[in-house]
Amino acid sequence: MAVSINEICENTKLAREMALMGNYDTSGVYYQGVVQQIHRLLATIADATRKAKWQIVQHQIVEEFEKVKATSSTLQLFKVDTHGERLLGTSCLSFEETTRDPALWAYNNSDSSWNQTQPRDPDVWPPLTPAEQKNSRQQKIQQQKQQNRTNTKKSLATAKKPDSKASGKKDDKKIVKKDDASKDKSETEKDDVELEERKFEPSANDKDLVEILERDIVQKNPNIHWDDIADLHEAKRLLEEAVVLPMWMPDFFKGIRRPWKGVLMVGPPGTGKTMLAKAVATECGTTFFNVSSSTLTSKYRGESEKLVRLLFEMARFYAPSTIFIDEIDSLCSRRGSESEHEASRRVKSELLVQMDGISSNSEDPSKVVMVLAATNFPWDIDEALRRRLEKRIYIPLPNHEGREALLRINLREVKVDLSVNLTDIARKLEGYSGADITNVCRDASMMLMRKKIAGLRPDQIRQLPKEELDLPVSAADFDEAVERCNKSVSQEDLEKYEKWMSEFGSS
Ligand code: ADP
Repeated sequence: MAVSINEICENTKLAREMALMGNYDTSGVYYQGVVQQIHRLLATIADATRKAKWQIVQHQIVEEFEKVKATSSTLQLFKVDTHGERLLGTSCLSFEETTRDPALWAYNNSDSSWNQTQPRDPDVWPPLTPAEQKNSRQQKIQQQKQQNRTNTKKSLATAKKPDSKASGKKDDKKIVKKDDASKDKSETEKDDVELEERKFEPSANDKDLVEILERDIVQKNPNIHWDDIADLHEAKRLLEEAVVLPMWMPDFFKGIRRPWKGVLMVGPPGTGKTMLAKAVATECGTTFFNVSSSTLTSKYRGESEKLVRLLFEMARFYAPSTIFIDEIDSLCSRRGSESEHEASRRVKSELLVQMDGISSNSEDPSKVVMVLAATNFPWDIDEALRRRLEKRIYIPLPNHEGREALLRINLREVKVDLSVNLTDIARKLEGYSGADITNVCRDASMMLMRKKIAGLRPDQIRQLPKEELDLPVSAADFDEAVERCNKSVSQEDLEKYEKWMSEFGSS
């Protein structure tokens, strides 16, 4: 069906109007619709210049939608609780996280829908009109059906491949195929059943390993958002460009503009590399595979290669996926015993093979599997791996503004005395990493409690009234905490990172 530009304009107008009226859910439905329409339009445009212009428009609409979502999340912080008290999210009283369901964020190749639905809170939002409810529900079901159809196609394609190494059959029992004819109530109920997640079903031989992966490595919803990460604007921008945008605009990121095979985050420990990977997965709604290289090589000795193969197979099954490999340097270095070195070598070889496999699949955007790696020791990474991790981003220590933002994030849930000047503290924390700053805040917030319980017996401690312990953190507490917690990164280390980045960096 041809996409009408008038319709795109009209829907954009409605999305904005709904947002202005505070109807954020409905506004979101329109925004998503517009993005889908532009995506469909893009598929019909041959002229490169015109196409690029529409891609920019699409990106702007996505950004606008993000702002609306951010506004709506902020407003939720001012939620009225059941006792009628107004609660500030930044205070110590209560903070309710919005639940984001990655299954509803999944990017869908054939119809390019990414579909987010936030639970509606009757305390904050005006009730939806019956028409809006129907509209929003039908859109959700339609989009999920579309997703399921794509998944069915994907599974069928895998099953058809005679040389497919796919481990066993994939369980598509829960996906019911039916036509799009008008549906009565019972059909709508069946649609709800369709919303159930598909599950990767390995062959009997691989069952135990897949269980390990499901238990230790797959994280369905890491629930870290860009806003939870202080500072690092440049890193966020680069990750968006390298990982997020290719998933949003697969048509644009083709040929010479194909997505990077892998992205390596380099920097001192505790600077937020893991948080950034989680935010990428949350913000894109991809399935998140959080793997530590040392776990791969040591914990599952003997099975590590197979584990890597299954990991990528699962990632393809649950695609779009982000595989985050922490401490990737440990796959290359010669630390530890000879057998550990041998295990690392085999894991690394399998990883290289699998990463090459990803790129040959990159024509199908619904199967995007992105490898994000992190290291505190980039100089240990050998050339073969470095070559596959084409984009190399530096994650630095926070600057003054970042340190202040970090203090604010860390102190979201504790009471802070009016005497505390965060700008002053941020100045004293120069050279501290994000993790060091978290430690300082934790230490400062416990200082008073430590003093109160000093010399008391356990029964006396238990009897202390909560109010006596939960007093605001003072400037003196911070001074003492800064004194006690040292920075963990030396000037010498920083120079080493700079040197490596100037030679191998690509940000
Ligand atoms: P890395 O992977 O670089 O070693 P992490 O992402 O695991 O570091 O961060 C460790 C901890 O430090 C986090 O749990 C968080 O408390 C804090 N932290 C570090 N950097 C940031 C940041 N930029 N914003 C918010 N918290 C941060």
